[in-house]
Amino acid sequence: MTGALVYLNGKDNPAAMLSMLSMLPPELASGLMLWSLGEAAALPSVFARRVEFANPPPYLAEVYLSELEKLTREFGSRYIFFANSFAGNELAPRLAARTGRSCLLDIHGLSLEGGRLTLTRDAYNSNMEAVYTLPEENGVFSLDAGRRAPGEAAGLRLPLITNPLLIKRKFPPSPPPSWFLTEVIETGGDNRQLEEADFVIVGGQGMGNADNFALLEELGRIWEAQVGASRPAAANGWLNMDRLVGQSGVKLSARLCLSVGVSGAAPFLNGIQGCETHIAVNNDKDAPVFAAADLGLAADGPELIRTLLALIAGEKKT
Ligand SMILES: Cc1cc2nc3c(=O)[nH]c(=O)nc-3n(C[C@H](O)[C@H](O)[C@H](O)COP(=O)(O)OP(=O)(O)OC[C@H]3O[C@@H](n4cnc5c(N)ncnc54)[C@H](O)[C@@H]3O)c2cc1C
Repeated sequence: MTGALVYLNGKDNPAAMLSMLSMLPPELASGLMLWSLGEAAALPSVFARRVEFANPPPYLAEVYLSELEKLTREFGSRYIFFANSFAGNELAPRLAARTGRSCLLDIHGLSLEGGRLTLTRDAYNSNMEAVYTLPEENGVFSLDAGRRAPGEAAGLRLPLITNPLLIKRKFPPSPPPSWFLTEVIETGGDNRQLEEADFVIVGGQGMGNADNFALLEELGRIWEAQVGASRPAAANGWLNMDRLVGQSGVKLSARLCLSVGVSGAAPFLNGIQGCETHIAVNNDKDAPVFAAADLGLAADGPELIRTLLALIAGEKKT
């Protein structure tokens, strides 16, 4: 069984790969295997085996996955590492699911203790660092090489291999998959507007559903306010995750924050403490959010928003 397999996409640049390799503990070096598209001559000889595919077809996850799965089973690789490129982060979880392993993406630190891998990655919008120890001795990961200082890449801890085994393979002709990715649509990603807004309306789980949340957005458009969400509201998909307000998301600095249907948990309040004035709406008069508000209104949130929208529409008519 080989220790680890490293996947190199033709588009991963060798410097990033080097920095990624410098993360691997030397204990993983025995049997380290490289699976590369085209030649990977620029990389140091740290691989006991190199499998090179001379004729890689254009990237299609399904086609690449079936080859990766075959190799994983054939060579019995325990750990499989990808760069956290678009392809790496797409292939890693899917390969993990196919081979019944754990998967973690965007790892920026790893060590091997007592045969168990300990992995570190950012969590909650980089506000926390999470450390994972794997119960099983296998897994599929993507490594965040970009997090390392360029100098660190030079500190390769892996021993050099003098006679690596070079295995040349050809991609087998594969029938076109019945579906594939044709377009990647970026959703949002710019939360500066929220961070810098003067007026923010934040909806919580108490808004009840996506349709009610759309009402908040409508009010936001009319009042020229940015709209944010508590964690459950964002997790429900009522608003994009980049609109999450709180410890794990955006910290507001608004002059006015109106929260609707938010309970007032500490991680949430952490995100609004920079606001000058906080008005809270909650249908539970004992909700903790009121203790942290300058003005509180015990009322049904969605109903209040609907009434406000109806009043505004009425005003426009007259
Ligand atoms: C490490 C960690 C990080 C976290 N980071 C964040 C974070 O960044 N942001 C965040 O928000 N949370 C975060 N959380 C989760 C946080 O602890 C709370 O679970 C979360 O804030 C609760 O969201 P909520 O108030 O929308 O939902 P709930 O706690 O479910 O509260 C809903 C509220 O709506 C009220 N309500 C119900 N119906 C209505 C209605 N019709 N009209 C008016 N009010 C109504 C209820 O009385 C209740 O008070 C984090 C937790 C952990 C452990």
